[in-house]
Amino acid sequence: MLQDDFITLTLQKTKNIALIAHDNKKHELMDWCKEHIETLKKHTLCGTGTTARMITDQTGLPVKGYNSGPLGGDQQIGAKIVEGRIDMVIFFSDPLTAQPHDPDVKALLRIAQVYDIPIANTKATADFVITSPLMESVYEHEVINFNKNVQERAQSL
Ligand code: PGA
Repeated sequence: MLQDDFITLTLQKTKNIALIAHDNKKHELMDWCKEHIETLKKHTLCGTGTTARMITDQTGLPVKGYNSGPLGGDQQIGAKIVEGRIDMVIFFSDPLTAQPHDPDVKALLRIAQVYDIPIANTKATADFVITSPLMESVYEHEVINFNKNVQERAQSL
């Protein structure tokens, strides 16, 4: 039964948005935040440590800071996605520089997919996402029913 295999999760009108930028992309994200400040003001923001601090310093937007990315910030954001406390991720990642925390970055991208979370990792994608009419409305989506999945696995393995 579809209803058993999936559960409906709801993104409210006010979204919990995580903001992350690798070092070479931080200025690009700062400019993006300034460009979209009126929309960002309507939502609840958090981010990895340095990114969050820089956004607050440069735009005045309140951004709850987690640890710096290389010190586990991406993993903290991933865990909040699992808990249903982050609805969307804007992640300006650097495709040209090796990152010491690359496994954490991969893990964040994966968990966002598992939970069907909008995750923008280019400026163009972020522009499309932030200007979507869905930013202003409630959005329902289907996610795997992990309780059922655990129950079945526990019985079958
Ligand atoms: P930072 O972390 O915001 O603390 O620099 C970002 C990252 O590199 O993932």
